[in-house]
Amino acid sequence: MNFPRRFALPFATMLTTLVAAAPQLPAQQPSPDPLHVWVQGDDPAALELWVKQRLAAVDSDVAKLLAVTGPRTIENTLRPFDDAQNELAIAGNNSYLVYSLADSAPMRDKGQALSAVISSANTDLSLNQKVYAALSAIPMPTNTPATRHYLERTLLEYRLSGVDKDDANRAKIRALQDKITDLSLTFGRNVADGTIKITATKNELAGLPADFIALHKPAADGTYTLTTEQPDVGPVLNFATSADLRKRLFLAYSQRAYPKNVQVLRDLLIARQDLATTLGYAHYADLATADQMIGSAANVELLIQRVDEASRAAAGEEYAQLLAFAQQRQRGLTSISQSDSRYWSEQYRRAQYSFDAQSVRPYFPYDEVQAGILKTAARLFHVSFKPVKDAAVWDKSVDTFDVYDAVQDAPQASNAKLLGRIYLDMHPREGKDKWFSSSPVIPGIIGRQLPEGMLVCNFAGGTIGNPGLMEYNEVVTFFHEFGHLMHHILGSQGEWSGAGGFNVEGDFVESPSQMLEEMFHDPSILQSFGKHYQTGETIPAALIAKMNAASAYGRARWLQGQLFASSYSLQVHNQAPATIDFDALQATDQARFSPYTAVAGDRSYASFTHLVGYASNYYTYVLDKVIAIDFFSQFDKRNLLDGPTAMRYRHAVLEPGASKPAAELVKDFLGREQNMVALKSWMNEEFQSPPVASR
Ligand SMILES: [Zn+2]
Repeated sequence: MNFPRRFALPFATMLTTLVAAAPQLPAQQPSPDPLHVWVQGDDPAALELWVKQRLAAVDSDVAKLLAVTGPRTIENTLRPFDDAQNELAIAGNNSYLVYSLADSAPMRDKGQALSAVISSANTDLSLNQKVYAALSAIPMPTNTPATRHYLERTLLEYRLSGVDKDDANRAKIRALQDKITDLSLTFGRNVADGTIKITATKNELAGLPADFIALHKPAADGTYTLTTEQPDVGPVLNFATSADLRKRLFLAYSQRAYPKNVQVLRDLLIARQDLATTLGYAHYADLATADQMIGSAANVELLIQRVDEASRAAAGEEYAQLLAFAQQRQRGLTSISQSDSRYWSEQYRRAQYSFDAQSVRPYFPYDEVQAGILKTAARLFHVSFKPVKDAAVWDKSVDTFDVYDAVQDAPQASNAKLLGRIYLDMHPREGKDKWFSSSPVIPGIIGRQLPEGMLVCNFAGGTIGNPGLMEYNEVVTFFHEFGHLMHHILGSQGEWSGAGGFNVEGDFVESPSQMLEEMFHDPSILQSFGKHYQTGETIPAALIAKMNAASAYGRARWLQGQLFASSYSLQVHNQAPATIDFDALQATDQARFSPYTAVAGDRSYASFTHLVGYASNYYTYVLDKVIAIDFFSQFDKRNLLDGPTAMRYRHAVLEPGASKPAAELVKDFLGREQNMVALKSWMNEEFQSPPVASR
């Protein structure tokens, strides 16, 4: 993937509100903090000035690099280049943070506009032939493998960005990149701003948790307003007994950026295709996979086929069981629709495994979960988290922690090494990005700049009187995102800003996060923080056993769902985009990978934000699931956190960041390439064992 996008837009979506709690500085006074734009408060002009200062620093780094007259060296050429990358990353991350998290629309607008400006500056640098010539003239280092890999990778990204094309084509590429950035930001913004409200009668709320209903006050006419925000959508699709309500909210959710995003998506795909052909590739999917682990779009097809073969039969069995069950409950039912799949799966799990997803929610109030995840991560990764009470943040609800290395015997020792800082922005706000993501805020450079990262989530809670009871899968999501954050902090302790954890091949980044998800089946981990929010009772082992058995059910269908998304994202990027029928393609892929009947009017593609962040490479999740499960199979299940494997994992997989190819990280830890052996038993393990009794 060309590197401007890589650095300008942190992967996946992000967010938020610029804050009033921060000290307000006069707009024209230079910011005293070159790393954190939000300390300036809610002032678009100050934001713009701050970004211009970062871009001026980029220009001066590039000028320094070009001014060298003697022989090219790592120090006189790669160093200033990395400094320029560093400033661009800081500026891009901060602008994107404002775009996606600021409270005020004018700030979000300014953040969006500046994200585009920075992306454009990235493109300029990536097409600068003098810089490329200078980097190419550095003798390849022979005794510093991390630096060698960084330089080789940088030169590869330059070639993929079209630096060797003639003036006319480079001008065209520059224009296309700007267009792609604008369209990407617009697509994301339309999704974030596209909240739809629907009304429901009191009767239609049947099946939903009492605390959910209590948070929704009826209007004068007795009806309730529900929105397409996560805290409403999840519970309704899982628990509401009214099929009609489920369908209405499912449709509203799928249409929240429709039809606005249809043309935006088409224009985006056309621009990407144009870029790919200009760079000598048949399709954008070929370009986007050229610098990835997978290597080519053809290999993506192959991966989809192989995982399909591994999961198809089991998925069919799972569906047959689900349908037979639903037919017992509802006479005359001939199939299960997309909008009913989560509800029936939930009912099936309740009946088959005596497991009610609501029954664990009281044990997972948000604040306890956060504390528990920090504690678990601290043990697993041998770090400690220290709250920073007076940190300047963009919203008063954001929690900030400093991360210390705790490898030495006394983790609280005063000489513990500071590794970086994390920000947790975890609850929904008006105007804030609606998704769940982890992103870098500041890259790391050893001895000079500590890495900082943030989680942006939309979990319930965060307000007085709302304990934020979480479903188990939300707890897992939290840990997933936390896995990204730890990868960034632990993997960004090297010499180069551009070789941190998030800079590893894009199709490896979901491995560390998905590996962590598996940890959360462990009873001792869950019991260490799962306490009833009213009684303080520890979550019972029997309940965990039922939950694990229930959560293992449906894994093959889940994989098939991932294949659907992988296939869709690939197919919109490996054919002529002007004539793609988005609805027809969705129907075809659904028929291939989903046993559920489609809901007429489903426009999910219009809010499929991964098409922006991952483009053709949604397969990343599937490839990385294979790797993650293989990784997890190396751990001693009786001693997950404290055995030697955790530290070996930290050293072999996380700490190198992007200092070597991801395939080597995999081999260093596994002693071989990944394979699907562990994945196959993962799909079948608990599902085939008799539920409850055996656990
Ligand atoms: Zn992830």
